Amino acid sequence: MKTYDVIVIGGGPAGLAAAIAAKKEGARVLLIEREARLGGILKQCIHDGFGLIRFGEKLSGPEYVERFIDEFHQMDIECSTLTFVTNIVKQKGGFVLTAVNRQGVQEYRAASMVLATGCRERTAKQVKIHGTRPSGIFTAGAAQNFVNLMGQMPARKCVVLGSGDIGLIMARRLTLEGAKVLGVYEVKPTPSGLTRNLVQCLDDYDIPLYLSHTVTRVFGTERLEAVEIAQVDAKMTPIPGTEQTLACDTLILSVGLIPENEMAEKLDVVLDPRTKGPVCDNQFMTGVPGIFSCGNALHVNDLVDYVSESGELAGAAAAMYCRRIAGTAFYSSVPLRADASLQYLVPQKINVGPGASKAVLYFRSREILQNAVLNIAIDGKTVYEKKYRNLKPPEMERLELDFEPWNIGETSDICVNIRKEGVK
Ligand SMILES: Cc1cc2nc3c(=O)[nH]c(=O)nc-3n(C[C@H](O)[C@H](O)[C@H](O)COP(=O)(O)OP(=O)(O)OC[C@H]3O[C@@H](n4cnc5c(N)ncnc54)[C@H](O)[C@@H]3O)c2cc1C
Repeated sequence: MKTYDVIVIGGGPAGLAAAIAAKKEGARVLLIEREARLGGILKQCIHDGFGLIRFGEKLSGPEYVERFIDEFHQMDIECSTLTFVTNIVKQKGGFVLTAVNRQGVQEYRAASMVLATGCRERTAKQVKIHGTRPSGIFTAGAAQNFVNLMGQMPARKCVVLGSGDIGLIMARRLTLEGAKVLGVYEVKPTPSGLTRNLVQCLDDYDIPLYLSHTVTRVFGTERLEAVEIAQVDAKMTPIPGTEQTLACDTLILSVGLIPENEMAEKLDVVLDPRTKGPVCDNQFMTGVPGIFSCGNALHVNDLVDYVSESGELAGAAAAMYCRRIAGTAFYSSVPLRADASLQYLVPQKINVGPGASKAVLYFRSREILQNAVLNIAIDGKTVYEKKYRNLKPPEMERLELDFEPWNIGETSDICVNIRKEGVK
């Protein structure tokens, strides 16, 4: 059986960055990808706006990820494409991974694994729409794949449900390709996508956005013929009497992404109900020592620049883990408690010990807040505060902190909250 220090699962931006970082740390690395080509979902994201933070340039998805693919190949990292990981089992001193490819069933051993499997899209079933099941109902990512990779137009006249970024981007893309987009309908009273996408994808193309609205029913036998739209109340329940029927041949669903964590679940990795990704420490190690997570598998990111960053941190940490495992514990960690004012906070734990407590925190506020303060208290005493002029749930925030000066110990209670400035 072939043995490595680190196996990375997933060849998207997170997995590529993780493999490169692990190799730079001297690890023997294998990257496994189920598709024929590396690049993950960015292969189909041909619009621009990627890499502004990392490279200070406006790149398309393929341009962005190609920079990592080039570096990956220059470093001669081993890679197995068209290979689907089906199982990972913990064994003494590491893990055995089972994968299927054209050569049959393969097994590999490694001391640590990085899960960089990305996320999947929520479907119509998960948003419970009544009616028939005609063709013409696509997730935004599936429609993006048809248009951008296969050169097929899936729509002539369509409705977009959900104002997430991929839905906004697809509203513009389908318009550019000649389809009529009747509107983007969002069940919440506020949009889910980034402000820049609302402006560049909807306003610039006169595509209307209807907040507090949802699709309640679909009609059609072979192909979609119409959808029923209704206004919703504060509890997001459709208001009787507000229904209207819109004739259309396509419904695009942009109703959320869910981190892909089947492998983590098989390993009994504890998942965070807020992120749907693994609970991890500031090295992005999960609760199962030796298993690391990054990118959209860890939590749904809105900017790929942060996906690559988390991959680098996880890959380097996985390589360092291999150097330390000879019988010694890695680190011990304490929980980082985010109160209800945060939608979520990653990582959820901080390592205790010299040189171990530097952290990159990613968080989202629960509500839109102007003039807010992020507060970190250790055992009830404020140790850090940062002011934010504008916090919006769709826009993830990043914060780099070193917890070492605050002398955290294994019993420390670390609490993070956000409040309006001046409110105690
Ligand atoms: C449809 C869609 C469109 C998006 N558009 C944008 C955008 O415009 N801008 C933006 O910044 N972000 C966008 N995102 C977010 C985007 O996913 C992230 O920015 C980034 O691509 C996430 O990188 P990743 O490496 O974590 O995941 P991915 O890019 O999804 O890569 C994960 C990889 O893991 C592989 N994999 C999964 N399971 C297995 C397995 N069992 N065995 C082997 N391989 C496996 C997959 O094939 C895939 O290649 C989009 C996401 C989706 C789903």
